[in-house]
Amino acid sequence: MIHITLPDGSVREYQEGTTAAEVARSISEGLARKVMAAEVNGEVWDTSRPINKDINLRLLTWDDRSAKNTFWHSSAHLMAEALESLYTGVKFGIGPPVENGFYYDIDLGNNTLGEEDLKKLEDKMKELAKANSFYQRKDVAKADAIAYFQEKGDQYKLELLEGLEDGQITFYTQGNFTDLCRGPHIPSTGLIKAIKLTSIAGAYWRGNEKNKMLTRIYGITFPAQKELDEYLVLLEEAKKRDHRKLGKELELFTFSEKVGSGLPLWLPKGAMLRERLQQFLQKAQIETGYLPVITPHIGSKQLYVTSGHWEKYGKDSFRPITTPQEGEEFMLKPMNCPHHCEIYKSSPRSYKDLPLRLAEFGTVYRYEQSGELHGLTRVRGFTQDDAHLFCRPEQVKDEFKKVIDLVLYVFESLGFSEYTAQVSLRDQEDRSKYIGSEANWEIAERAIQEAADEKGLNTVVEYGEAAFYGPKLDFMVRDALGRKWQLGTIQVDYNLPERFELEYVDSDNTRKRPVMIHRAPFGSMERFIAVLLEHCAGNLPLWLTPLQVKVLPISDKYNEYAASLIALMKESDIRAEIDDRSEKIGRKIRDTELMKTPYMLIVGEKEMNEKAVSVRIHGEGDKGSFPIGDFISEIKNIVKEQIKGKTRNS
Ligand SMILES: [Zn+2]
Ligand SMILES: [Zn+2]
Repeated sequence: MIHITLPDGSVREYQEGTTAAEVARSISEGLARKVMAAEVNGEVWDTSRPINKDINLRLLTWDDRSAKNTFWHSSAHLMAEALESLYTGVKFGIGPPVENGFYYDIDLGNNTLGEEDLKKLEDKMKELAKANSFYQRKDVAKADAIAYFQEKGDQYKLELLEGLEDGQITFYTQGNFTDLCRGPHIPSTGLIKAIKLTSIAGAYWRGNEKNKMLTRIYGITFPAQKELDEYLVLLEEAKKRDHRKLGKELELFTFSEKVGSGLPLWLPKGAMLRERLQQFLQKAQIETGYLPVITPHIGSKQLYVTSGHWEKYGKDSFRPITTPQEGEEFMLKPMNCPHHCEIYKSSPRSYKDLPLRLAEFGTVYRYEQSGELHGLTRVRGFTQDDAHLFCRPEQVKDEFKKVIDLVLYVFESLGFSEYTAQVSLRDQEDRSKYIGSEANWEIAERAIQEAADEKGLNTVVEYGEAAFYGPKLDFMVRDALGRKWQLGTIQVDYNLPERFELEYVDSDNTRKRPVMIHRAPFGSMERFIAVLLEHCAGNLPLWLTPLQVKVLPISDKYNEYAASLIALMKESDIRAEIDDRSEKIGRKIRDTELMKTPYMLIVGEKEMNEKAVSVRIHGEGDKGSFPIGDFISEIKNIVKEQIKGKTRNS
């Protein structure tokens, strides 16, 4: 008999050679129908693979990420089976799962395939799924595997086989299709109930442009039609909220080929939005004891040799800029940290000076391949809401708590109510790759976990995810469409203080190294604004939106009254504009709706006589007539409510 330990700690006894599927069935038939894969001592297995010793077992259903990966990878096999039954001479590269769905890279041979053929392929997949074939695993000797793919003439699989040895090679077969694969797979094709092939693209074999261009087909599948329908609705909604589209419609930013790709140009409305966001964080930072600094956009190459960035990233950076006479070399600043280390060094520091918190909205430049650029989320020049905290080891926890407060204040003021945090710690076994003393690491790792716990954060701990120079805490927000974005990050660093030989004189008169903490609640202004726009579908919070109120006179006769309202609102810091075009009121309303301006004030004869305004709210419609004074206090109240005015106390 063998002993199987389930996640709840219960131990069950089974015959040697039992399978995860049998374990599931012994618990309940309902569960057995839903299980797609099994985690055996942390490794994902087929549910049909015999278990021969005592193990820890987790049964994976659709909600588990590993089950989704297994499901989608199995769907790639199903697509390959469909392709092979429709076309002859097709050869296969690799077919992995991705964030949403799967793809397979295919050499179509003499066949051609366009978007219009995807429906036919989808139908074939559905037919094969209904056949409910089992995914069968088989160990194969290398010589036999080579013979199989030589016979088939598939040079790609033969190339993949070159890197494998006897004992590592398995085949999976479902229906008439056999693939070289290490697995795992779902039990059978019948679990795949809904299928959508989404696009076709070209992809070089093994990502190398010297190799042949293969055809990559993307698709997504689900265990129920309802889930596919929901996914497609979400996809449609995501298209509408695409920040690149909204940025154009709301006149926030633009790109120019002539200026250069990946270099956003902020238009007046976007610049105002960005400045307001910046002022908001600056104010909170000043209240928390940060000191502003400003550093140049370039730095001597030597600075980055000292910091280690040159050695690590130099090859993949913008080339150095040289001076015409002296032959000096400068780098476009890829990060602000080395500059801030030099500011730290600009005067002697005592333990009484710490923590020293240096903050800068620093613009940095990083080379990205042109194909990788994407709107504001992948750019070549961006501004970080950067700060570096220099402190004593025993201050790390307190500093973390303060930064957590700041990050949460930012999230709450901007309408991100769902977030999680990840604590990244050292590998538990191999500690050779980390720099810094064991004692300091222990203090910092414990400090981060305690700070996160005391702040009630919903955290996951990931071992082995820490950088070689220190542990960190990352924040993930869930947006309105349920997508996850990594935003704020807090990172401990033992490396730069060492490389820059930073010191402070401690209370016992000895010289010590400070701990450095990098932190950025937004990450970068560009990326944050992109995420925010997609989260709120362009309907920015009232306190932040570039234009809060648009006054629409019914005809030219009321322009003067409208202008007097603008002046009144300006006195209360309300951002308002007039639409004094000689257009019909219906047209003015439609145009303002498109710009997503939160409030419209419609004024005519009646409003002028009563010193009132007819209020229309974006997306809601008419709200009736109010005295202008009441309207102004209402707006001021909403804005006050949205930004709580000061950071939460730690
Ligand atoms: Zn496979
Ligand atoms: Zn930094």
